[in-house]
Amino acid sequence: MPLPAFQLHRPRELAEAVALWAERGAAGKLLAGGTDLIPSLKQGLFAPDHLIDLGAIAGMTGISRAANGDWLIGAMTRIHELAEDPTLGREFPLLAAAAAQIASPVLRRMGTLGGNLCLDTRCLWYNQSYLWRQSCGFCLKKDGSVCHVAPGGRRCWAAFSADTAPALLALDAGVELAGPAGARWLPLADLYSGAGDHPLRLGRGEILSRVRLPAAAAGMRGSYQKFRIRNSIDYPLAALALALRREATGGVTARLALTALNPAPVLVAGLERCLAAALAADPPDLTAAVQLVNRAAKPLSTSTVPSDYRRDMVQLQARRALEACLA
Ligand SMILES: Cc1cc2nc3c(=O)[nH]c(=O)nc-3n(C[C@H](O)[C@H](O)[C@H](O)COP(=O)(O)OP(=O)(O)OC[C@H]3O[C@@H](n4cnc5c(N)ncnc54)[C@H](O)[C@@H]3O)c2cc1C
Ligand code: SF4
Repeated sequence: MPLPAFQLHRPRELAEAVALWAERGAAGKLLAGGTDLIPSLKQGLFAPDHLIDLGAIAGMTGISRAANGDWLIGAMTRIHELAEDPTLGREFPLLAAAAAQIASPVLRRMGTLGGNLCLDTRCLWYNQSYLWRQSCGFCLKKDGSVCHVAPGGRRCWAAFSADTAPALLALDAGVELAGPAGARWLPLADLYSGAGDHPLRLGRGEILSRVRLPAAAAGMRGSYQKFRIRNSIDYPLAALALALRREATGGVTARLALTALNPAPVLVAGLERCLAAALAADPPDLTAAVQLVNRAAKPLSTSTVPSDYRRDMVQLQARRALEACLA
């Protein structure tokens, strides 16, 4: 599986990268750590004429504090730094736990936060060699006109499967997009379209440059639950992030998000109300909260593991995470 021919650009400034990306975007791809993009190029999923490598840009890495106490993380910060930074790990144990379970040690040293958040969606019928896809029949995400997962439909259900996204959604993170008209901040959830074939809402020339973690989320308890075939390396097939704090008033602040089950990472709505009712019972009854999570998950046959098994797993994960954080 050789790489296709392309021209490699190595801008040294973010503005230069944005200008190149705006100009060449239709025939180009952004390259961060390359751990997902390079295998995809080899599989013939993309054939860009231009690759814009973000690796030489000054100021896109590192973890710092803003004047208001929020935390800022550069998009080119490597995944292993998120897993190993002692201060980040103390303040945001959920993010550190999610990062520590991504891929393998080597891939965590190469892969970046920005690349993880902008990961392409995954499907059994799509992440394959050209020969494999040709012999099974191309699907509508690439070169074909049918969906093998939901035949008859016109929608791609490939699953968004990055691990940092649910952790950051649960921590109420925002992302900065640098573009030709300047930079803009948006809630992380707004980055995702929910369409498996075009998962990101990035405007022309826009590059994810930073992630902001609000100071208010620091110190929340966290639980990251991940199901995958091989714990040493694989992408998630169902995973859940929970950030929770028991307030002095007796109430609970909680946010829970899912990945690898839907075409976008999903923040589960209504959890705090559900937990307030659950905790009013003695002993606490988590059944309704688990059902809430179950309703938000939409696993389809995008992987070799049956979707009903992944649905069972996410309910188990929800119960385990809630019990751990409420203990
Ligand atoms: C064997 C294997 C196992 C893996 N397991 C996991 C896993 O368990 N969990 C997991 O989450 N991931 C997993 N991955 C995927 C990948 O390694 C990680 O998601 C990694 O963080 C991707 O980052 P990267 O910098 O290498 O991205 P790249 O491969 O360089 O880029 C990924 C995509 O994001 C785009 N992109 C990159 N940076 C930006 C930016 N700043 N702005 C806009 N677009 C951008 C690229 O154009 C590309 O489309 C695995 C990969 C492999 C090969
Ligand atoms: S969900 Fe359907 S259209 Fe999307 S990648 Fe899978 S088979 Fe292709």
